[in-house]
Amino acid sequence: MVPGLRGRNHTGDSMIIPVRCFSCGRVIASDYIRFTEACTKIINETGREPKGDEKAKILDDLGVKRYCCRRMILSHKDLIDEVMPY
Ligand SMILES: [Zn+2]
Repeated sequence: MVPGLRGRNHTGDSMIIPVRCFSCGRVIASDYIRFTEACTKIINETGREPKGDEKAKILDDLGVKRYCCRRMILSHKDLIDEVMPY
């Protein structure tokens, strides 16, 4: 996948993540932007997708502790990867 297109739809606009976590209401949209930036940095440096433990460290550094919030960010990214070819 082209790193520059990550998180963008076919018109070039950002895919929209819910602003708040569905379960606890924590604001996660701004953390998601930083999460994708950190993932893009890893891809550019290593030429591969970030591994699970690297994603975990990014979320820890962002202060996303509760697993309800972490699943919002991780599952949203997975959805983009699934939808992108279509
Ligand atoms: Zn939450």
